[in-house]
Amino acid sequence: MLQDVALNCFNITQSYLSIDAGNVLATSGHVIRQTQEAIQTSRQYLLQDIFTRWDPFNGDISFSYNGGKDCQVLLIIYLGCLWEFFLSSIEGSQYGPQFHKFPLQQLPTVYIDQEDTFDTAQEFLQASVDRYYLSLYESAKDKKIDMPSAFESFLTVHPETEAIVIGVRHADPFGESLRPIQKTDPSWPQFYRLQPLLHWNLSQIWSFLLYSGEEMCGLYEMGFTSLGSVNNTVRNPYLRVPEPIASFTKADTKHSDFQWEIENNFRGDSKTHFNKINETDLTKIRNHDASEFHPGWYLTKDEWERAGRLAKK
Ligand code: ATP
Repeated sequence: MLQDVALNCFNITQSYLSIDAGNVLATSGHVIRQTQEAIQTSRQYLLQDIFTRWDPFNGDISFSYNGGKDCQVLLIIYLGCLWEFFLSSIEGSQYGPQFHKFPLQQLPTVYIDQEDTFDTAQEFLQASVDRYYLSLYESAKDKKIDMPSAFESFLTVHPETEAIVIGVRHADPFGESLRPIQKTDPSWPQFYRLQPLLHWNLSQIWSFLLYSGEEMCGLYEMGFTSLGSVNNTVRNPYLRVPEPIASFTKADTKHSDFQWEIENNFRGDSKTHFNKINETDLTKIRNHDASEFHPGWYLTKDEWERAGRLAKK
């Protein structure tokens, strides 16, 4: 049930926030402390600025999700905040949360299906629908339809939507001047863009996601650092073995900066989890480049996150 997942996401977030960063190895501790601050800022946007203005339980808000690492991080934090918001709504009741009905059975979500994505990414998206109880609107697959028109069609089907949560960050292309809450441009269908993850950097994303122990899209394990179209995205060249790893912070290429997070993950099994790489994808990826690659989280330099994008043909 969504209620259980929201509680679990709340527990993941609280557990991360309670890590005693001072007792963790010097580099990891520093990133963890910064990530804890980033989480608190995102929670503040959601609980104080967003949920007080748009009711997350009555369809005002939809969540844009494609299975990428950024929206997955935001989804975990968002669901955790939904649990907190639910708790605050029953505050003062003499009955515990188990005696109250969680007001939502599925999370309204929107996916714009424009690009030819890897099958592995599609399969991960479908697995996310089950795992996180998403009620997923998928736009008609038509590459000729532009983004604004795809959202226009979405709003025709879901006119109750006033605002859409987006996992964009300042480091993303065109992300620099975005604000946490802003209206769409006049040329777009009108809704509010809710962007509570803007201030996060790449290290913080990996630190939290690896600590969560949640299953991630398998492409990241193969050396992808961002999910793009199958026609223009390859593994990140900075992660090719035996080239130096991109952070240049360690001579030891067997370990990433996030070994502590993996060993102490919330799931308690000290492992990373991914959906299985689709066989067709595997052949395509290996045919393009037979080299070995470090997993995506060995790259922590924001500027190189999209180095695996080829120029559009
Ligand atoms: P990654 O950078 O690893 O691919 P990501 O997909 O989460 O992770 P971006 O590609 O930077 O991040 O996209 C920013 C945000 O825009 C996503 O987090 C998601 O909220 C939204 N988004 C991107 N592509 C789509 C899509 N096809 N459908 C719906 N929302 C999307």
